[in-house]
Amino acid sequence: MTINNYKFAGKKAIVRVDFNVPLDENGNITDDTRIRGALPTLKKILEEGGSLIIMSHMGKPKGKVNPKFSLAQIKDAVAAALGRDVKFAEDCANAADAVAALQPGEVLLLENLRFYPEEEGKPVGIDKEDPAYEVAKKEMKESQKAFAKTLASYADCYVNDAFGTAHRKHASTAVIADSFGDDDKMLGYLMEKEVQAVDNILSDIKRPFTAIMGGSKVSTKIGIIENLMDKVDNLILCGGMTYTFAKAQGGKIGLSICEDDKLDLALDIMKKAQEKGVNLVLGSDCIAGDKFSNDANTQVVSSMDIPEGWEGMDAGPVTRESFANVIRTAKTILWNGPAGVFEFDNFSGGSKAIAEAIVEATENGAFSLVGGGDSVACVNKFGLADKVSYVSTGGGALLEAIEGKVLPGVAAIKG
Ligand code: AMP
Repeated sequence: MTINNYKFAGKKAIVRVDFNVPLDENGNITDDTRIRGALPTLKKILEEGGSLIIMSHMGKPKGKVNPKFSLAQIKDAVAAALGRDVKFAEDCANAADAVAALQPGEVLLLENLRFYPEEEGKPVGIDKEDPAYEVAKKEMKESQKAFAKTLASYADCYVNDAFGTAHRKHASTAVIADSFGDDDKMLGYLMEKEVQAVDNILSDIKRPFTAIMGGSKVSTKIGIIENLMDKVDNLILCGGMTYTFAKAQGGKIGLSICEDDKLDLALDIMKKAQEKGVNLVLGSDCIAGDKFSNDANTQVVSSMDIPEGWEGMDAGPVTRESFANVIRTAKTILWNGPAGVFEFDNFSGGSKAIAEAIVEATENGAFSLVGGGDSVACVNKFGLADKVSYVSTGGGALLEAIEGKVLPGVAAIKG
């Protein structure tokens, strides 16, 4: 079923959203992107005369009730975004009465799903090495099914609009779908858009295809880097992983971050790129700082010859230009991970140069997908989010989808 075809009038819809929004120490939302992202789906259901049961996780309460992660803190913000009252169920697994009282057009927000260990389906309090772990895991899978059935019992149909958790086989993201027939379960609009954006990158590739992978470590990106190697024409590797590559090639990297156990891997990536005819672009110069701080003293140095006591913290001017030249001519672009410590304004120039080149390419007809928390934070910081083709809400889910893995949250609905 698709959300556009389903008739929500008079129906109760349980919708999994990703309202895992960042909060400050007073419980105020500091970035409501995720709430805004789910609005088209939620509004469609309400405007058609359906009633809405919203479920989400927040943070990592590890299967225990913890007020710090209570969704009660965001109830008013959700109400304001929807322009309607929102009722709140303090116990997501005992909300049958509140659900029964729900009238068409009304909204019920369930308390954090992860207050129950059944949501994630992992045994808590038992070490993985403990012989009892496997038994506990089996038992937990059964309780997870029961928990998912309870959630399913609240509604006539199930909508999954939480792309951020689509790579997890949790009660609310996948297992619950087993309780609904194909005609009563569907992806929400945000999920549809995310799946489409990934599809554009994977199957409808206009060339040249340029991927820009940055961030701190090569180890967390290796799966996607290897996968992209079969698809891209140009692969720009930047950010902290630059220095693992520099050291692997015999460079001096001072205090720059480096994964010493990944030096062989770095050389292997370089070799594979050559074998596959991929243009691997690494930075040649960098802005080094004498401390990890925005007000560090800086100098532009070769990425292969960073002085003792200094660390590479951003791409240098020559590198920026070489990245931008490759990006400007691309027709398909994927960006994940910043080119430097962009949180410090004085080290955000490299990431900004990338963002600006992506915008230019997009204006010239490229499809550009920016995803993963930090690159999204980058385009937001530079005010360029609406000038790229698509900004994904998914971090891990996006990377897994692009690696070609089947996302349990999508498979549970689409088969
Ligand atoms: P990731 O979560 O792996 O995408 O990494 C994002 C983080 O990498 C950001 O917080 C950046 O500050 C950090 N980062 C990028 N370049 C560097 C660098 N040269 N040195 C240290 N951290 C970096």
